[in-house]
Amino acid sequence: MTLYVGRLPERVRRRRARAAVIAAVATLCATAAFVVHLLGGLAANGADDLPPTPGSAAGLDPELQRRFDVARVAAAADGVELKLTSGWRSAAEQQSLVDGAVEKYGSLEEARRWVLPPESSAHVQGKAIDVGPTDGALWLEQHGLELGLCRTYANEMWHFEMLADGATACPEMHLDSSGGW
Ligand SMILES: [Zn+2]
Repeated sequence: MTLYVGRLPERVRRRRARAAVIAAVATLCATAAFVVHLLGGLAANGADDLPPTPGSAAGLDPELQRRFDVARVAAAADGVELKLTSGWRSAAEQQSLVDGAVEKYGSLEEARRWVLPPESSAHVQGKAIDVGPTDGALWLEQHGLELGLCRTYANEMWHFEMLADGATACPEMHLDSSGGW
């Protein structure tokens, strides 16, 4: 039996040093992979990884867009289709809706119940969404509060706006949009 009492041969010391470096790097890699995995899991629980909303328009409030994306996925899990039929609108688009409503309803007085002017429309501010089809709108009214979305008008089952920060209940619905003129 040989007892080794002197310095380790250079070759052995190098091999041990290299093994220690490899072990350290492996530990770092495993830690980094775990952190990436953890962050990926967190992101998957939010709306960040969701596919883009079909029909979404640029200009929608990002938080409203996020809430709608979450709602759409939750509705789909319940077997209900939820689609955005109108989001952000330019002032010109809103004005043409006003003009069209006057034509359709025959008077500005009646048109006011269904559409707001560009200066007070929440759609122009990117703060309102219209959803469909009917089943989807009904589903959203039922689940909207927990998702931070509130139906706004009694005569428009499709129009939703965000629940205000800190609010625990949706505000009472307006009968129609005429009060916003
Ligand atoms: Zn609307």
